[in-house]
Amino acid sequence: MNAAAGMRVLVVGAGLAGLTAALDLVAAGAEVTVLEARDRVGGRIHGVSMPGGVTADGGAAYLGARHTELLALVGEHGLRLVPATMTGDSTFLLSGRRTTSASRMPPLDAVALGGMFDRLDELVADVRPDAPWQSADAGVLDRLSAASWLAREIRHPDARTFFPLFLGEMMAADPAAISVLHMAFYLRSGGGIRYLNAFEGGAQEWRIDGGAQLLCQALAERLGARVRMGQPVCAIEQSAGDVVVQCDGASGARSRYRADRVVLAVPPLLAQRIEFRPALRALRATAVTGRGCAVKVQLGYPAPLWREFGLSGWSVSTNGPLLSTVDDSPPDGSAGVLTGFVTGAAATAFSALSATAQRDAALAHIGRIFPQLPAPTQCTVTDWLAEKYSRGCYAALFGPGDWLNLGPTLTDPHGHVHWCGTETSLEFFGLMEGAIRSGRRVAAELIHGDERTPVSEKVLSR
Ligand SMILES: Cc1cc2nc3c(=O)[nH]c(=O)nc-3n(C[C@H](O)[C@H](O)[C@H](O)COP(=O)(O)OP(=O)(O)OC[C@H]3O[C@@H](n4cnc5c(N)ncnc54)[C@H](O)[C@@H]3O)c2cc1C
Repeated sequence: MNAAAGMRVLVVGAGLAGLTAALDLVAAGAEVTVLEARDRVGGRIHGVSMPGGVTADGGAAYLGARHTELLALVGEHGLRLVPATMTGDSTFLLSGRRTTSASRMPPLDAVALGGMFDRLDELVADVRPDAPWQSADAGVLDRLSAASWLAREIRHPDARTFFPLFLGEMMAADPAAISVLHMAFYLRSGGGIRYLNAFEGGAQEWRIDGGAQLLCQALAERLGARVRMGQPVCAIEQSAGDVVVQCDGASGARSRYRADRVVLAVPPLLAQRIEFRPALRALRATAVTGRGCAVKVQLGYPAPLWREFGLSGWSVSTNGPLLSTVDDSPPDGSAGVLTGFVTGAAATAFSALSATAQRDAALAHIGRIFPQLPAPTQCTVTDWLAEKYSRGCYAALFGPGDWLNLGPTLTDPHGHVHWCGTETSLEFFGLMEGAIRSGRRVAAELIHGDERTPVSEKVLSR
């Protein structure tokens, strides 16, 4: 059965999820139009130009062997992978003291960190990956913030120091902003703590040569004129027959599109802002749903100069703003690119600075971490907190109570409106792989017809 043949479908959002859904629907014979608010495709995937013609990933970058749908798309579009593996010593700046070591883990009490990871592993093992809101003790874990869990469960000061760095790196989250259930679910959904945290053999094994935006551009090229830029959707009105979608153009001009079905492929905090008639029965986000807080700082050098000093470029710091740095240089070493991550609460403070102050703070930090390096020739800041059409980088953060409120209806259609986006994927939630899987899932929903009758359908047929 192919219910999508000849169906008019509007896909809202040209990130990986929307582009994947659109292509699957076109292949099934649907008449697809993609409405994108920005003047570019890719959403949370975005290329940054560096010296020497190099493009760095200002947004999503890393992938691993378990990201099978993403790897398949990379292969189909003739793109190459670059190993993200680093050789050389790591650098640490903990409480103002700089050290280097062969280990990627900071020189903190290994037993204390091991104990904390064991406790986290227990939480991760107990969460139900297919329905986190039905996990044992879901009610308790969903109400408790990760910060409260830390205060209650973890005593050792080294483990307490490391925990926010770990959550910042993994989830771009301030521990006060997320529930324990969300933390455990996210870690489980991404393949477990060790897989998510690892470069070699883990979720950060590779980057896409030339930047991940090449994949989004290749997908958009296949869709051609079906993709319309500068179309921020502000209202969706449904009748029993069809759906009318309204966009607010940049110059105040409004455009309207009519369709049989809408696929909304935007982050939950942005979906919640759209005016729905009839109104949404199930919220996409609540007052405690947070946005992941990430700023990326890319520093350009004539070559990966840190390697000459036996350093990998990997650093971890408790004295921000760059909580970690990683070597993102091109594989031939023709240029040097260090990527710095500012995440969680540090990102909120950093984002509030002027552009000059951000740059000064980043350069001062690099000077402390790598005093042997000359000043970089370029410093580019990609501040995702300032991005009107993202609100959640790496992904939305489910706050206390959110999984029980939002989880059960995450993918329930609202009449003729269907949902995708990485935050609707229980597999690899928050990652590129989750975005693609959600796009595939929603396209299949329209192609095979959905047997479920959501509450909103009853409202529409009155
Ligand atoms: C700094 C950073 C680092 C990351 N690192 C990684 C990583 O290493 N590996 C990994 O796998 N993932 C990573 N991610 C996460 C990854 O980028 C996302 O999971 C994925 O790109 C989400 O895709 P999506 O299509 O669901 O959403 P998006 O990419 O957010 O796409 C949504 C689209 O909808 C558009 N839009 C929004 N509102 C409207 C509206 N009202 N009307 C029309 N269009 C609208 C947006 O402009 C956007 O193009 C990272 C993200 C960031 C920001």
